[in-house]
Amino acid sequence: MEGEKPTTLVCTVLAINHTNLCYRVCAVCERTRPDNDPTSLCKFCNFNAFNSVSPASKRLFRVLMSIASDTKVFTVICFDRMAKVIFGCSADEFFDFAKLHPFAAVSASRILEGEMFKMTLSKPKNGNAQHLRVVSIVPLRTGFQPAIETLRKLYGKRVGC
Ligand SMILES: [Zn+2]
Repeated sequence: MEGEKPTTLVCTVLAINHTNLCYRVCAVCERTRPDNDPTSLCKFCNFNAFNSVSPASKRLFRVLMSIASDTKVFTVICFDRMAKVIFGCSADEFFDFAKLHPFAAVSASRILEGEMFKMTLSKPKNGNAQHLRVVSIVPLRTGFQPAIETLRKLYGKRVGC
């Protein structure tokens, strides 16, 4: 993984950090919001939740996972757009599902562990960021289903989602 060019490789997901799959951002400017403070003003864009019909904040995926190529094990970070490919829903939908099914995050990581993907990894532009970033992800197994599909089957569709 030397040099600055993104690398594409075939890899297997070894583990997913299921304790922290998403984070909260301002619904307007998408800057990170404190998790314990969902209603106050966003200090960046001064978006006021009380004057608006849309929610003040939303969640985005930020998934830390370890993957293995044929030669190496990496820890990579998968942001919202790529995580949606493997989870099959938005972070808000997943969070709501997990409220009804407390083990959904654990189950989702178990479902995805062992799956093979073609991933493109790039070095973070921010020098302080420590993990390679997934910039493209393609499931390789025929019949791959996003985690939420399998979860819905597991838990049944009766409640919520
Ligand atoms: Zn904002």
